[in-house]
Amino acid sequence: MNTRSNFDFFHNLFKLYEDAIQGKRNHPTYSDNALGITALLYCPLKYHYRQSDFHTNQYSSLEILDGFDFEHTIKSILQDHYGAIDEFVVEYEYNGTKIEGHLDVYVPTLNVALELKNMRLVKAKMLPADTIVFNPEEYGIELTQSYLKQAGIQKTLLDYHTNKTNQVFLVVKTTLIDHSMKAKKVIIITQPPAVPLEEINTLIEAFHNEKKPRYPWECKLCPYTSMCKNAANLLK
Ligand code: SF4
Repeated sequence: MNTRSNFDFFHNLFKLYEDAIQGKRNHPTYSDNALGITALLYCPLKYHYRQSDFHTNQYSSLEILDGFDFEHTIKSILQDHYGAIDEFVVEYEYNGTKIEGHLDVYVPTLNVALELKNMRLVKAKMLPADTIVFNPEEYGIELTQSYLKQAGIQKTLLDYHTNKTNQVFLVVKTTLIDHSMKAKKVIIITQPPAVPLEEINTLIEAFHNEKKPRYPWECKLCPYTSMCKNAANLLK
């Protein structure tokens, strides 16, 4: 093959790879007017822009595709061996606002749900001997606060919805990197504390009343910066 046809061949191959992974994804859709849990955890303006911007909402990075692949494989194993339910929906309403949580996978026979994430790099104090890490604190690993909060909200809403006590685990596939730049691929498993219903109600109120970023880095990484009238001030 010449250079041009090499390029076309690989371009086509990886486009098909991307499509194959996308095809495995069970794209959850929310009921009319229902908010997802993540809408409560980030800048509410992003939620409004997302509603009207289909193209920015498309998934494209390899990192995200790796996440879909990991999620699909774990879900399939749990479905085949434990009768798990994919994208289990839990609902909650406060002051006329409906919240819908989509748990990645729920195993009713074990009362266990998993929230599956793929993160690029996570810093660690030292690298563990095993590839499965149950105590991230022991290795100085700090996971993304919004992921921990999301799983904590899911735990509360799942117990509320099913009227029983469940366990919700945050399962993160990532590469750990220590101070000497040594790296290791691991699966981190942690059980974030439940977020009280009163705190969820406060987040719902803030979604309506505080239209601003929740984290200092949000505007810098936001896909809506160019159309957002608040971005210029916030990025100063
Ligand atoms: S640019 Fe900042 S303020 Fe505007 S939507 Fe994005 S995160 Fe929110």
